[in-house]
Amino acid sequence: MTTKDFVLTVEDLTVSFDGFKAIDQLHLYVDQNELRVIIGPNGAGKTTLLDLICGRTKASAGRIKFKNTEMTTLPEYKIVRAGIGRKFQTPSIYENLSVFQNLEVSFPEGRGVFGALFFTCSEEVKARVRTVAEEIGLQDQLDLEAGLLSHGQKQWLEIGMLLMQEPELLMLDEPIAGMSVREREQTAELLKRICKGRAMIVIEHDMDFVKRIADKVTVMHQGKILAEGSMEKVQNDPRVIDVYLGH
Ligand code: ADP
Ligand code: MG
Repeated sequence: MTTKDFVLTVEDLTVSFDGFKAIDQLHLYVDQNELRVIIGPNGAGKTTLLDLICGRTKASAGRIKFKNTEMTTLPEYKIVRAGIGRKFQTPSIYENLSVFQNLEVSFPEGRGVFGALFFTCSEEVKARVRTVAEEIGLQDQLDLEAGLLSHGQKQWLEIGMLLMQEPELLMLDEPIAGMSVREREQTAELLKRICKGRAMIVIEHDMDFVKRIADKVTVMHQGKILAEGSMEKVQNDPRVIDVYLGH
């Protein structure tokens, strides 16, 4: 396969914070329509890797290509526009707006939070809001104030806000942290629904959850890739057991 076929190509990526290499000559290749899970001990550099891909942190060296376009030095908003969506660990929704409004203001051609409140939105936007609400299982909560949603539902809403932009690569950092067992199961189903037609990178610690969703697993350790492959392969890798799964 040439690099052309990958949705994401990361090569020789390095970032130093005061001489400490949080990411150290890392290579990562993500296929179209792939759901990749990244695991690894705390401090391995998982979040930093997503920060680099979405442009929040700039690389000290190396390249990041999205569908054959160099992203390495682009500002964050251009990377979003190119089709990369990223969810952070803490949900950032508008608690005082309804579920509908939260989705509406996330529509890319929208007028932002104030515009959307004072103008009636187009049928196109309304249709998209309904489609996304069904994908995230909040179709019956559209008129509810977002602050009243459960913790899990808030996480789903934030994923929905990203889906409004139809990202071709969606990155989620520990999406099930703090969720109940039932919500975790529902989130696994949700991710399987929304990964159709796009690539995803999910950082997660819950191995039962990882098993359910992953096409392929990447294990990070000290800013590098320790192992990569099927869940079964990495689970039985003695180095992975030693630095991560054994604890
Ligand atoms: P993970 O998400 O795998 O737990 P992180 O990517 O958050 O790991 O952190 C990797 C390492 O980089 C940690 O040692 C962390 O302290 C360090 N680090 C992350 N961001 C910064 C920063 N902005 N400045 C300095 N050190 C950082
Ligand atoms: Mg992290």
